[in-house]
Amino acid sequence: MSGLRAESNGVPAMRLVGGRLLDPAAGTDRVGDLAIVGGRIVSPDDPAACGATVLDVSGHWVAPAFIDLHVHLREPGMEEAETIESGLRAAIVGGFGAVVSMPNTSPPIDSPGLVRQLIDRARALGLAALWPAACLTRGRAGDEVAEIEALADAGAVAFTDDGSTVMRDDVMEAAMRRVAAIGSVVMDHAQDRAHERLGVAGDGAARRLGVPAIPAEAEVRVVERDIRLARATGCRLHVQHLSTAGAVAAVRRARAEGWPVSAEATPHHLALCEDDIPGDDANWKMNPPLRSARDRDALRQAVLEGAIACLATDHAPHPAAAKAHGFLTAPFGVVGLETAVGVTWEVLVRDGGMSPLEWVRRWTTGPAAVLGRTAPTLRPGAPADLVVIRTDREWTVDPARFCSRSRNTPFAGWRLHARPKMLWLGGRPWAIGDKP
Ligand SMILES: [Zn+2]
Repeated sequence: MSGLRAESNGVPAMRLVGGRLLDPAAGTDRVGDLAIVGGRIVSPDDPAACGATVLDVSGHWVAPAFIDLHVHLREPGMEEAETIESGLRAAIVGGFGAVVSMPNTSPPIDSPGLVRQLIDRARALGLAALWPAACLTRGRAGDEVAEIEALADAGAVAFTDDGSTVMRDDVMEAAMRRVAAIGSVVMDHAQDRAHERLGVAGDGAARRLGVPAIPAEAEVRVVERDIRLARATGCRLHVQHLSTAGAVAAVRRARAEGWPVSAEATPHHLALCEDDIPGDDANWKMNPPLRSARDRDALRQAVLEGAIACLATDHAPHPAAAKAHGFLTAPFGVVGLETAVGVTWEVLVRDGGMSPLEWVRRWTTGPAAVLGRTAPTLRPGAPADLVVIRTDREWTVDPARFCSRSRNTPFAGWRLHARPKMLWLGGRPWAIGDKP
């Protein structure tokens, strides 16, 4: 397990000196100092910062704590794969101050009581913040709209049947009308289920491995339908884990026309394509699947240009035994919280030429905007939720050291550079060590 410890029982005043301060909300990228006093960011000149412990972070990047719009914490019901505690520890190691949990647990999160339980459990742990998404339909069955208003009152930040698409147009439209009326957002797992039930890999990989495919049209068709319904209902639509050039084009068109449509890309869809799959190894099986190099490049371009304004992990833990069965029968999904910063920095910033400020934007203000939350910032007065990232030392992904209970990653052995070093949550520091 990676070393992870709360620095002290109290909340000490600290002065971070010499870091590269990346604050997308303020539009600033400069070397400077900031101080943390009483759980808030203050100017280093503030008298309250006098006598604060000095921490030299020169050469490192300082940014608002990252937000992950898409994680599976597996509790309740699948604690062998992950718990709220192990998942939120993995989030901290990954540089995330808050994560949006998907409702496809057992039971699914389709009642206000379950939403409150998740929130209370996470608060009691005092780790990263858990912002629960609730089911769009009862039991995620796709037939009857869930109690949207009561779920929102209980604290649900978004609505989704992630893991399964609402296939009935009338149900999706009714759900969007209800979500629009309360000003919340639908997060859309857009994959035609007729294809999903049969397929396990992208077209090219399916041919190579001799397994059934999930064709690109399975995604494109549902994305186009849901953009149409978002226009009809005025509902904000966030398309999850885009994987195809066709769906990227549909999202681009909708945004250019001014419709309230956003989308996310995952580290694995940006870093990998189906040609990289080494064989019948289910650590490379996820939904949507890895697709062609052309699709991957379309995704990268859209992230670089801002048409895709969010990155999200789709952290999907599974026990090793379940993943041992190969492509045909293993469950979909890969873990991502503890590699997301390193992988996306490598692909987008180092190799893609993206500015560090834009990269931070995709992980902070982009996701916050989807949820309608105040943009996280390093400005004085803001809550001290921030991350220090070092980018100057190579490290190797070793799944055995993950804080997550699961190890199902295609990035084992990858050599990366960016890595969170410290995280503050409400002013409380967490040191993220290299050593157990
Ligand atoms: Zn998911």
